[in-house]
Amino acid sequence: MARYTGAVCRLCRREQTKLFLKGEKCYTKCILDSRPTPPGMAKPQRGKPSEYQIRLREKQKLKRMMMMTETPLKKAMADASRSPGNSAAVLLGTLETRLDNVVRRLGFATSVNTARQLVRHGHVRVDGKHVNIPSYGVSVGEEITLAPGIKDNVGVKLALEFAEKKTNRPAYLAFDAEKLSGKLLRQPGREESSFPVNDRLIVEYYSR
Ligand code: SF4
Repeated sequence: MARYTGAVCRLCRREQTKLFLKGEKCYTKCILDSRPTPPGMAKPQRGKPSEYQIRLREKQKLKRMMMMTETPLKKAMADASRSPGNSAAVLLGTLETRLDNVVRRLGFATSVNTARQLVRHGHVRVDGKHVNIPSYGVSVGEEITLAPGIKDNVGVKLALEFAEKKTNRPAYLAFDAEKLSGKLLRQPGREESSFPVNDRLIVEYYSR
């Protein structure tokens, strides 16, 4: 499966915004604070961006926040367009409830990349069943737990400590600190999404 293996801070510099791809390091030492220009440019881009560029950048921002490639994002958008209801809300809801993102938001990992690694390496269970597909869509009522062997992992422990200190778990997730498990209580609302993007521009980009 294709995946981006370059420096993730370049992606933030390209989008000119913090995408929080390195977990807790993003809160302590962020290159955007000292080098806020896009990669390969000594100065910020001049001139007014075209409508197309504005939409493209917004779509790229979402794609990079989830560390996805174009094909799955395009497919998620196509599915959202066919669904009843607001396409943008459906798209963001779909991304928000992907297994890798739910693992991150529960605090088992500090970034989407480490969450995806936990899933891919078979350390995550859904309703007690082994699921190693990061794009798996978690349904309401499903319980996410970690495999017993990974609960003492240093990375997971640090991520949980970080989650207690820095982040608020969203209200649509129930977290059980004793069992180290979480449950999706309901579909997340637009305002609860972890993607600060202009979803209208993304829908417009894909409806060209
Ligand atoms: Fe982005 Fe984090 Fe790197 Fe800052 S430290 S540029 S937020 S990935």
